[in-house]
Amino acid sequence: MAGCRPGSTNGILLPDKPREECGVFGIYAPGHDVTRLTYYGLYALQHRGQESAGIAVADGKKVQLYKGMGLVSEVFSGDQLNNLRGHIAIGHVRYSTTGASHPVNAQPLLFRYAGGMLGLAHNGNLTNVTELRSRLMATGSVFQSSTDSEVIVNIIARSAQNGLEDALVKCMIDIKGAYSLVIITENKLIAVRDPHGFRPLCLGTLGEGYVVASESCALDTVGAGLIRDVQPGEIVVMDENGLESIQVLKPRKRAHCIFEYIYFARPDSFIDGFNVNMVRREMGRVLAGEYPVDADIVIPVPDSGTAAARGFAEASGIPFEEGLMKNRYIGRTFIQPSQEMRDLGVRLKLNSVREVLNGKRVVMVDDSIVRGTTSGKIVAMLRDCGVKEVHMCLSSPPITRSCYYGIDTSNEDELIAARLSLEEICRSIGADGLYYLSLDGLLNIFGNSRDNFCTACFDGNYPVEVAKPKETGKYSLE
Ligand code: SF4
Repeated sequence: MAGCRPGSTNGILLPDKPREECGVFGIYAPGHDVTRLTYYGLYALQHRGQESAGIAVADGKKVQLYKGMGLVSEVFSGDQLNNLRGHIAIGHVRYSTTGASHPVNAQPLLFRYAGGMLGLAHNGNLTNVTELRSRLMATGSVFQSSTDSEVIVNIIARSAQNGLEDALVKCMIDIKGAYSLVIITENKLIAVRDPHGFRPLCLGTLGEGYVVASESCALDTVGAGLIRDVQPGEIVVMDENGLESIQVLKPRKRAHCIFEYIYFARPDSFIDGFNVNMVRREMGRVLAGEYPVDADIVIPVPDSGTAAARGFAEASGIPFEEGLMKNRYIGRTFIQPSQEMRDLGVRLKLNSVREVLNGKRVVMVDDSIVRGTTSGKIVAMLRDCGVKEVHMCLSSPPITRSCYYGIDTSNEDELIAARLSLEEICRSIGADGLYYLSLDGLLNIFGNSRDNFCTACFDGNYPVEVAKPKETGKYSLE
């Protein structure tokens, strides 16, 4: 196999995906090396955030914290892990969806309050953070970071006179939006999920202990068994008395982020009862049924389009081929979220395989197009390899709205599907055909659970209110 001719457009590509949010992990397991298990759990969740990583560990008397900027493997050395000792731990990997990319915003956050020490790691975005922060500051609160997670900590600390669980209940009544939290005190691990269940959070067992994580792949990695998902509106407390579940808020209409299945989550994870890989494969099958295309081969844009491309090939009978090769050692190029770094440093390297592609009519499957900055380059690469026709198939509906619940989908005016018609997008990327999976087709994959999802970035139905569009056409947070 060989790539296209030297000097062709193969190689340097800008990434064009929504940015993952954060990953959280927590463990209560006396007798186990909880620090190292958390380290491995964070490794399994690294795809959810690569800017910073941190671990807080409790031994019954105190909570210790170590965190820093970079990948899990860069932040922690053996010495740092050896110095964190205890039987309870929480961990966090972060990509900044609120708050700048700065060490002070790395998590877990650790505070001392009237009840002792409290560490917190958060996945999601609050939608009423501006109002809450102003209210807290007006009554004397000070903030070290620009994250909404610190607002949560402040609210908890102010309501803690009747105990932490009571404070959490009050906090959940106050805060709106998306939050999956893991909280550590000197002697407890607590997991909390917002009443809509936007972001995933699952619960497992490890011997006599417990593990919680954003995705079940982290449970698998540390040898824990999955019990169930933390329910929307539920608090789970794990300590020497075992596990206590408190259904604090009535679950509202569920709004699990459907993009977890389309792109974010690891394919081996189970989220809210569905295996991510199987859902992606089914997306490809449904897409093939919606758009019968006459073509010679189906190729994925690796790796995000691979499962759906297999499903498309199975349903259509068109052979699956690997026509694009990905350089697997470019993880760090995803770290910097600033626009400058996206344009200059964030390059996704792909190479095309002439022997597979030359003279073929190709169905190319990817999960989504966000700003439309890479698809045209990939199509041009295929043309350079002698491809006769390129039919671009996406396993998601067009992204036309911004997300306010913990995903960086870009501003609305940057989203190509919000600006251009289907025909215009097809022309702008130079494809012979462009097909998006329908929203109905996507939701039908989930059968009786089809109403349990947030689909706001496709249809503008925001499950938790965000401020109305301003004259700019953008939505903004309260
Ligand atoms: Fe997920 Fe889109 Fe809803 Fe955001 S708006 S939570 S990305 S489905």
